[in-house]
Amino acid sequence: MEKLQQTATERRRLTRNRIYRYLYEAPEGHSKQEIADHLALSLPTVHQNLSELMQADLVRADGVQESTGGRRAARLCVAENARFAVGVSVSAQHFRILAANLRLEEIAYRKDAHEPTTDPAALGVQLAAALERFLTDFGLNREKLLGVGIALPGVLNAARDRLLTAPTLPLDSPDLQPLAQAIPYPTVFRNDAASGGYAEWFARTDADSIAYLSLEDGVGGAVLLDGTPYTGANGRSGEFGHICVQPGGLPCRCGRQGCLEAYCSSARISTDLGITVEQFFAGLEAGNLAYRTLWADYLQHLAVGIASIRMVLDCTVVLGGYLAQYLAPHLPELRRLAAARDPFDDTADYIRLCHYPKHAVPLGVALPFIQTFLAEL
Ligand SMILES: [Zn+2]
Repeated sequence: MEKLQQTATERRRLTRNRIYRYLYEAPEGHSKQEIADHLALSLPTVHQNLSELMQADLVRADGVQESTGGRRAARLCVAENARFAVGVSVSAQHFRILAANLRLEEIAYRKDAHEPTTDPAALGVQLAAALERFLTDFGLNREKLLGVGIALPGVLNAARDRLLTAPTLPLDSPDLQPLAQAIPYPTVFRNDAASGGYAEWFARTDADSIAYLSLEDGVGGAVLLDGTPYTGANGRSGEFGHICVQPGGLPCRCGRQGCLEAYCSSARISTDLGITVEQFFAGLEAGNLAYRTLWADYLQHLAVGIASIRMVLDCTVVLGGYLAQYLAPHLPELRRLAAARDPFDDTADYIRLCHYPKHAVPLGVALPFIQTFLAEL
């Protein structure tokens, strides 16, 4: 009898979840009749479930539109700000803290300096304090907070509770529990590049699987198969920065020569020249000859790297990281160069620019909480 009750309750939940997810997929909303028709449910069932969802403030009626035929039915929409999740990108000296609503839209962001430390517990105490300041200063309601995702610049174990290697964030102990225990909210840990890729995968409706290539001071990335990161045997999948694109070429920070990172790091067009990335692209546009030569070489090697990724994975390659925001004018040339190296593809329109050039990592590490909320509602 109890089993039967549970089954009925679960069935009711699934119906409510289907209605909610149907509305979630349509930012412009749907009428009650559309919901009933599309999901093959009776109007009373739709009505009952919508009442519950509206009472819980998860769905709102978006006004009543007039039309020539008279009053039109109210459109029902997901209340995207009913909950939010926080994502934090941790580096040796900064926390980049972001709050995202249920549509993964940024509602608050702050970059906060912290004292460098190698003690996970001490790092956790600092992060907990920074989080509380962030929530208070932006007037965010803690009761609506789903959880805090923490992105780290290193390789995590399969259970994602130990940080195995992190050259830029050395910690005394790989155990992340002391860090998590300092945070009074549900937490998850993720790799930073995989998080950036996860946000990009979520934003795409045209690709089930993507390779995410992040172009910043470091060049890295992630492989997402149907939204799940493929981490590889050692957690090093997506370390695209160390694909060799020029045997015997420029020295790389890894100690080898000719790596993609040596050619396509943002440092090559900024720090190495003693200018900012903005200045480089301004000079390039103004026709600076030295910049044009350097940029042609940059694109050439980037195309070699991308063509290799494509040859192995045969999926969409999304270009992210903060350099991505400058790439739109150069995309046709980049595609031409990549296509020239590919016997199977003469357009290379599999190369796409990211949706989130700025905050993909904190957005992506907030996303697991939103996905769980949507699945379990
Ligand atoms: Zn290297």
